[in-house]
Amino acid sequence: MRLKDKVCIITGAASGIGKAAALLFSKEGATIIACDMSEENLKVLKEENPGPGVIDTYVLDVTDRKRINEVVEEVASKYGKIDVLVNNAGITRDALLLKMKEEDWDAVINVNLKGVFNMTQAVAPFMIKAGKGSIINTSSIVGVFGNIGQTNYSATKAGVIGMTKTWAKELARKGAQIRVNAVAPGFIKTPMTEKVPEKIINALNEKIPLKRMGEPEEVANLYLFLASDESSYITGQVIGIDGGLVI
Ligand code: NAD
Repeated sequence: MRLKDKVCIITGAASGIGKAAALLFSKEGATIIACDMSEENLKVLKEENPGPGVIDTYVLDVTDRKRINEVVEEVASKYGKIDVLVNNAGITRDALLLKMKEEDWDAVINVNLKGVFNMTQAVAPFMIKAGKGSIINTSSIVGVFGNIGQTNYSATKAGVIGMTKTWAKELARKGAQIRVNAVAPGFIKTPMTEKVPEKIINALNEKIPLKRMGEPEEVANLYLFLASDESSYITGQVIGIDGGLVI
C-alpha cells in the first residue's frame, strides 16, 4: 500500500476530485482527514469508504481560521502527525471582467487563495517539527493560460502556483524534506463542470488531444503519486493533467 500509516488532510473532500482522492487514499492505507463545508456529503463519503484506510470527517470552511486551527490541533494530537496536506477545496463565480461583482471576486479569492494559505499556515508547523511532509495545491491550467469569464478564478490559481514555489523553497530549509507541488487540471468531470453546456464541452473536447474530459480519479492518481514517497525528489513543480489541452 502506497500511503500506509500516512495521515493526510484533504480539503474539499466531499465531492469531485477531493472525494475521488479520499477514496483512493483509503484504498492505499492512509488515514484521511476529510474536510469540507458539506456535512451531508461528508457523511456519504464516510459511508462509501472502501477501506482499509480510515476516513475521519470534519466540517470545515477553509476561510475560517479559528475552525482550521481547532481541527488541525485535534488531528495532530489524535494521530500524532500530519504527513500530507491536499489543498483541493475550490469554487468558481464566473463573470466577464466588466460584470464581475466585488462579492464574487472576494468569495473566490477567500476560498481558492486565502484558504490555501490558511490551511498551509496551520499545518506547516507540524511538518516542520517532523522535518518532512508533502503539500499538494490544486491550481488549474487557467492559472497559467487564463480563461474568458474567470478573472477571479485565474488570479487565485496563478497565486497558488506562486505560493507553491515559495513554500517549496521556504519549507525545505534546514534540510527538511517538505515538498510542495501544484497540480494543474484541465477540464475534469465533476459537479464543478456539470453545468457547462454540451456545446462548449464538445468544442473543448475537439481541442483536447485525448478528445475527452478527465475523470476525477485520474487527478486523484496524481495526488496519490505526489502524496507518496514515490515522488520524494519532486518539489516546487506544477504538473499539468489535461489530456494535452495546453501542449
Ligand atoms: P467540486 O465542486 O466537485 O468540489 C469542491 C468541494 O470543495 C465541494 O465538496 C465543496 O463543498 C468544497 N468547498 C467549497 N468551498 C469550500 C470551503 N470554503 N471550505 C471547504 N470546502 C469547500 O469541484 P472539483 O472539480 O472537484 O474541484 C476540486 C479542485 O480542483 C478545485 O480547487 C478546483 O478549482 C480544481 N479544478 C477543477 C477543475 C475541473 O475541471 N473540475 C479544473 C481545474 C481545477
